[in-house]
Amino acid sequence: MTLHPTHNLSVEELDRQSVFHPFTALAQHNESGPRIMVSGSGVRLKDRAGREYIDALAGLWCVNIGYGRTEIAEAVDRQLRELPYYHSFASMGTEPAAHVADRLKRMLPGEMGRVFFGLSGSDANDTQVKLVWYYNNLLGRPRKKKIIARKRAYHGVTVAAASLTGLPVLHNAFDLPIDRILHTVTPHHYWNAEPGMSEEDFARHCAAELDALIEREGPDTVAAFIAEPVMGAGGVIVPPKGYFQEIQKVLKKHDVLMIADEVICGFGRLGRMFGCEVFGIEPDMVTVAKGITSGYVPLSASVVSEKMWQVLMEESRTLGVFGHGYTYTAHPVSCAAAMANLDILEGEKLADRAAETGAYMQTLLRETFEGQPAIGEVRGIGLIAAVELVADPAARTPFDPALKVAGRVAARALDNGLITRALPNGDSLAFSPPLVISRADVEACVERLAASIAGVRDELIRDGVR
Ligand code: PMP
Repeated sequence: MTLHPTHNLSVEELDRQSVFHPFTALAQHNESGPRIMVSGSGVRLKDRAGREYIDALAGLWCVNIGYGRTEIAEAVDRQLRELPYYHSFASMGTEPAAHVADRLKRMLPGEMGRVFFGLSGSDANDTQVKLVWYYNNLLGRPRKKKIIARKRAYHGVTVAAASLTGLPVLHNAFDLPIDRILHTVTPHHYWNAEPGMSEEDFARHCAAELDALIEREGPDTVAAFIAEPVMGAGGVIVPPKGYFQEIQKVLKKHDVLMIADEVICGFGRLGRMFGCEVFGIEPDMVTVAKGITSGYVPLSASVVSEKMWQVLMEESRTLGVFGHGYTYTAHPVSCAAAMANLDILEGEKLADRAAETGAYMQTLLRETFEGQPAIGEVRGIGLIAAVELVADPAARTPFDPALKVAGRVAARALDNGLITRALPNGDSLAFSPPLVISRADVEACVERLAASIAGVRDELIRDGVR
């Protein structure tokens, strides 16, 4: 075990004593300590003990181009030597920021107006919330401020973004959500549709629920609706057929803005560059992060349509400066990394590759798991998928949450050299590998997941659970 030069302690021990870990059971971590990763190449990671893993989650759904691409390191190195930092307040700017903003506008569907840079999906969604409020204040509609998200949505953890998120663990004990943020139904056909309801009928049902919520609240008080094209961290939920068409009819009727959170879906994961293209979403605002740099360095963006931009620009004349921005907004090093990353994504046609390998992965997952004991649903599109475990597939009875079935499968998978993730609510395991994954590695992931599920089932049977 390597010792830290100044302490007589291992890195694991230093971590255990000093790092406050996000989304971690704090007391448990204090006892068991961390797993420290040291290197990565393609879809593979190595930890300090020299164990190798296939990273079927691409870090946190973000390492789209895979690990170890030296083009990004070189672009970052060049920018650090040329100009490591300058800001974009008060009309200042840098070359990489101008290039990325222009490129994003050209890549995104619809007519986008301006790109506001941040550093995380969370801060970008907080910016969207503030922009929605600012916009309606400028338009003289001070009451039109409420934003509707969906239960089980994931939009981040900062105060407004965590409020948009529809997961209790982000609200409980944090005094969230804040007011003016509401949640409507999760478009999950498997769990939420009435028996026998078609996908199309369920989509209409979800839209009717949204319509009813807006009517109850008063359309003059509802400003925006935010949605991930495919809900990611809340369960990998692919919307039912026709969902966004039905939802957008309701939004148009009540003059409510559509915010597309493309933080996971953007940059190729669904087999097109953006999720909006897959589902025919016509957003007024788009949030991107993760895949814009493949996670190599932090960068996010809140993009507004040309139509919204015209209002923001013209109507704000009387207000003076736009009072929002971060020290690191449009950071030149992040933007240089983004340009190199987008060169790889576009040059190697990784969205097309995700469509092809994704189709293979979806088929293989369904062939392997559907109809097997304890498998409820296999779902996904492109290179994002989830396998949901249930106690009784015929009756659709979930496992007792106290059994932590998915968590146990994920832990076993780790021992089997596979990084997957147990998602909150229910017992789903997620796949969202780098877009460069090969068919052989998809097969290895599926085999390792199958072995891990079989291992946990054996344990449950042994314990008399089923
Ligand atoms: N939106 C979505 C759809 C996400 O998946 C995430 C992160 N998983 C976020 C926002 C928040 O991004 P970050 O963790 O970079 O703040």
